[in-house]
Amino acid sequence: IRPRDWSSDVCSSDLAAVIPYYERFLKKFPNFRALAVAAEEDVLAHWAGLGYYSRARNLQKASRQMAELGAFPREHAAIRELAGVGDYTAGAVASIAFGLAHPAVDGNVRRVVMRLAGSAQISVEDEAEALLDRKRPGEWNQALMELGAVVCVPRDPGCEACPVAKWCAARAQGLQAELPPAKVKSRLIRKDRTLVVVRKSGKILLVPSPRVTGFWDFPEPFEGLRLGAQLGTFRHAITVSQYVFEVREGFARRVPDRARWWDEKDLERIPFSTASKKAWACLKQS
Ligand code: SF4
Repeated sequence: IRPRDWSSDVCSSDLAAVIPYYERFLKKFPNFRALAVAAEEDVLAHWAGLGYYSRARNLQKASRQMAELGAFPREHAAIRELAGVGDYTAGAVASIAFGLAHPAVDGNVRRVVMRLAGSAQISVEDEAEALLDRKRPGEWNQALMELGAVVCVPRDPGCEACPVAKWCAARAQGLQAELPPAKVKSRLIRKDRTLVVVRKSGKILLVPSPRVTGFWDFPEPFEGLRLGAQLGTFRHAITVSQYVFEVREGFARRVPDRARWWDEKDLERIPFSTASKKAWACLKQS
């Protein structure tokens, strides 16, 4: 079996870039109690650089659930009830942390289970449940995940070195390259938008983001606005939407009701959308 190459899972430079943000977040919110009582705006601002903001919101909701319970739950059903916890995470935590007999089906395990069964026409969850080692579920689940990550990889699986090759229906039938079947990729939908940078007496106009709840954004064109020079363009993908943003200077006679003027230094501490951060970078470069 080949030693695991962790760099294929997480690009080391990406990982190095994220660590300071993660440490800063943990320093600010060292436990669920601290996170439970924090203002959402504060949590989102400290999550900057750590990926999807929905995870920060869920983490805070889960912390509040734990605060109500008084501790992290120790039963599978209660773990599954925590915000942001799906079947895979609940199974992984229940089995690995508490030795509870529940499967943990991630993408790697799904592939291994389908190949062992030699078919995509199965309930992977039921099959994983049937295969589970009930005496050592945590180690079993980790072994399956590892098998999928190291040996039974998507392309060119290492069947020659596979410790379960003799029980593998896909290998027996020569189907390993066809399982699991390739997914149909969803197409990105292009959306053209304009973000406007309006300034007055050293302040900057922002509006609540129409794309990311709880965040502030540069406004899109509104009534009473005169557009000025183009400051730049950039692309930004959110799920299946491929936004193409044009950044323009703007001059406002009146501003939308929910708009607010902010000092430039505030942009560092408020939840400021990634698209607007990119727009801000355009402005700095122009
Ligand atoms: Fe995967 Fe090949 Fe092992 Fe089957 S024999 S589980 S296809 S690596």
